[in-house]
Amino acid sequence: MTEDVRDVIIIGGGPAGYTAALYAARANLNPLVIEGFAWGGQLMITSDVENYPGYPEGVLGPEMMNDFRRQAERFGSEFLTDDVTEVDFSEHPFRVSVGDDEYRAKSVIIATGANARQLGLESERSLQGRGVSYCAVCDAAFFREREVVVVGGGDSAMEEAIFLTKFASKVTVVHRRDEFRASPIMLDRARANDAIEFMTPYVVDEVLDTDEARVTGVRVRHLETDELETIPAQGVFVAIGHDPNTELFLDQLDHDEAGYLVTQPGSTATNVPGVFAAGDVVDHVYRQAITAAGMGSMAALDAERWLAAQHGHPDAALAAPRT
Ligand code: NAP
Repeated sequence: MTEDVRDVIIIGGGPAGYTAALYAARANLNPLVIEGFAWGGQLMITSDVENYPGYPEGVLGPEMMNDFRRQAERFGSEFLTDDVTEVDFSEHPFRVSVGDDEYRAKSVIIATGANARQLGLESERSLQGRGVSYCAVCDAAFFREREVVVVGGGDSAMEEAIFLTKFASKVTVVHRRDEFRASPIMLDRARANDAIEFMTPYVVDEVLDTDEARVTGVRVRHLETDELETIPAQGVFVAIGHDPNTELFLDQLDHDEAGYLVTQPGSTATNVPGVFAAGDVVDHVYRQAITAAGMGSMAALDAERWLAAQHGHPDAALAAPRT
């Protein structure tokens, strides 16, 4: 049991968490960032990032996360490289547990992100950032005049496939059923696009590569005949959905059907006063490092103002988050 009560604990070590830490540290809130073993989040499986402002030459995902972390550290953020195992927001100060160690805080910022669902293939894992991607907006431009495969049959897969046709010479959508989960309008749009070919019902058996570990194609299996086929491709976009990392919070915080935390409009405040949420853990629309970072700064400002109001300084609270 750790006795002292923190002003703020930040749970999660991705763009949202580290930006919240930077702002909270600069506001003298001495944040403790419980960043998780897998700190850095989805950027750790991304190679070149070319759409984050401030890096005109681009930057590697892991390098960018190191920069974020160092910048937060410079102003006194403390880090715990471990996973939170339990939270209790039913009493104030809040309790945040990491195994047997308990930490207490007046406010908590949740920035645990989301994970792109993976196919679960070893070849997929080893080629992440080397042709296997989970974000067309981030990586499509690397596939100019190349052939790519998109896996999935939902709106994300259709959207990614259509977006990829702006760059790739050919896009093959591989889906495991003949029916699609995507909305009819998105499916029609994809079907009307000459650069998109559909293969159903197929699953990806293996992502193929060269000796230099660059994607060269995808081996797919027809689900009814078991017949194998190889699709030549330099890129594979896995678009089979995302899962927010919210298991720890679902019984205490408002969330939507898919498990994303729900915040109040125009704010990062959750339904528990003093608990804020930012980044992909609430956002299933934009899912960008820059939007997560922006929300992280909002959460720190919201927490700062909320704490000031609690301490009887509503004037210093500027515009405390609306409740
Ligand atoms: P989703 O609707 O859950 O679709 C996931 C797709 O991936 C399904 O077709 C599913 O196949 C397939 N899939 C799942 N696991 C798989 C596996 N292990 N191997 C092969 N295929 C697998 O996810 P989403 O497309 O990301 O959409 C999520 C939500 O965001 C939806 O509500 C969607 O409407 C919304 N969204 C909207 C837009 C838009 O309107 N512009 C854009 C993107 C997303 P089965 O169908 O066989 O289960």
